[in-house]
Amino acid sequence: MPAYNEESSFEQLASCMTRVRDENPDYEWEFLLVNDGSTDNTLQQMIKLHESDPHYNYLDLSRNYGKEIAMMAGFDYATGDALIIMDADMQHPVSVIPEMLRYWEEGYDDIYAQRRSSNESWLKSKTSSLYYKLLQSLTRIPIQKNTGDFRLLDRSCVEALKQMREVERNTKGMYSWIGYHKKGIYYDQLQRQQGSSKWSAMSLFNLALNGIMSYSTAPLRLASILGLLVSVVAFIYLIYIIIVTNLYGEPVQGFPTIMVTMLFLGGVQLLGMGILGEYLARVFNEVKGRPAYFINSYNGKRNDSRQSQPQHQAKS
Ligand code: UDP
Ligand code: MG
Repeated sequence: MPAYNEESSFEQLASCMTRVRDENPDYEWEFLLVNDGSTDNTLQQMIKLHESDPHYNYLDLSRNYGKEIAMMAGFDYATGDALIIMDADMQHPVSVIPEMLRYWEEGYDDIYAQRRSSNESWLKSKTSSLYYKLLQSLTRIPIQKNTGDFRLLDRSCVEALKQMREVERNTKGMYSWIGYHKKGIYYDQLQRQQGSSKWSAMSLFNLALNGIMSYSTAPLRLASILGLLVSVVAFIYLIYIIIVTNLYGEPVQGFPTIMVTMLFLGGVQLLGMGILGEYLARVFNEVKGRPAYFINSYNGKRNDSRQSQPQHQAKS
C-alpha cells in the first residue's frame, strides 16, 4: 500500500486489514506500507501499527517520489508468493480479495480489478474512457479498461516487474506488457472516506502523457506523418504557383497566404520538436541511471543492506 499523507485513513485501514486476515485465514499475511514522503503523521501511524502487530511492515522513502515509484519500492520489498496492490485510502474494497485469491489458486497470475461503477464526474469518466481508446489504438498489446493498480500479482509477475527499473514509469502499461495469465474481475470503487485525492488535473494530464510517451513511440510516427502530409501539400501548391505565375504573371500579392503558411509550418515544426523533446527528456532521465528511490528506513532499521541495491534479479 503506497501512502502519501494518509494519516486519517489508518483507522479504517487497520480494520480493513483485520477483516482481510479474518476472512482469509488460510494464508499468511504481510501488510507492507510504503510511506511516500508524507508530511503528516503517516509514518508515525505506520510505526504504531508495526509495533502493535508484526504483520505490518513499513518502508519509509526518503522523499515523495509519486505513487508509481512507491509501488516499485513495494515490489522490491514485499515478500509473499503473491502481492496485492491497494490504495491506502481504502477506496479499493477488501471484499473482492477472496475472489482474487480463488482465481490465483486456479492458476491465474495477474487478477486485475476493473471498476464497474465509479463516483467520478461525467467529464472524468468520459476522458478516461477516451484515453483508454487512444492508448489501445497505439498498440497491439491488449490494455485493460477502467483498471487501476488494484490487482493481485503472482510472484512471477512481481519478479518480472522488478526487472523493469525505468524511472519514468507507467506501471499500468507494464502489467500489460509483461503478459502472463490475466483475469479481470469487477468491483465497485468506494468513496474516499478520509483525506483528499492527491491528483490535480495537471498531475492527471502528466500521468496520461507519461502513459503514452513511456509506452509507445507512436507520437514520433505522428510527427513524421504530419511532416510528410504538409510537404506533399506544399509541393502541390508550389507547382500550382509556378504554373499560375508563368501563365498569368502574378503581380506581387499574397501577404495573407505567406503569413498563414509560415504560421502553420512554424506550428507543425514546434509540435514535431516538442514530441522529440518529450522523448529526449525521458532518455535523459533514464540514461543518468540513478536509483529510482532511496529509503530512509525499513521497519525503522536504517542502513539496510538492501538500501542501495534492491534485489531485482529474477529467480532462476
Ligand atoms: N500516493 C502516493 N504518492 C503520491 C500520491 C499518491 O503514494 O505522490 C498514494 C495515495 O496515498 C493513495 C494512492 O496513491 O494510497 C492513490 O492516491 P489517491 O487516492 O490520491 O488517488 P485517487 O484515488 O484519487 O486516484
Ligand atoms: Mg484514492
